[in-house]
Amino acid sequence: MQEREWYWCQECDKAYRQTDDGKCPYCGAETAIDGWRWVKLRRANPQLPESPEEGKEYWINT
Ligand SMILES: [Zn+2]
Repeated sequence: MQEREWYWCQECDKAYRQTDDGKCPYCGAETAIDGWRWVKLRRANPQLPESPEEGKEYWINT
């Protein structure tokens, strides 16, 4: 089984893996609207780790 992609929520600043219901598991924001693909964020923020910690808050300049 392939691992789910990491997303970062711009509403609560937390990292999470893509969920079945398409929402952030921490604040309920829609991934399609408030979620940023981690790989995309890392291109502009190379200081970020390759894989984030689940549920950890990251301060990211989008
Ligand atoms: Zn959230």
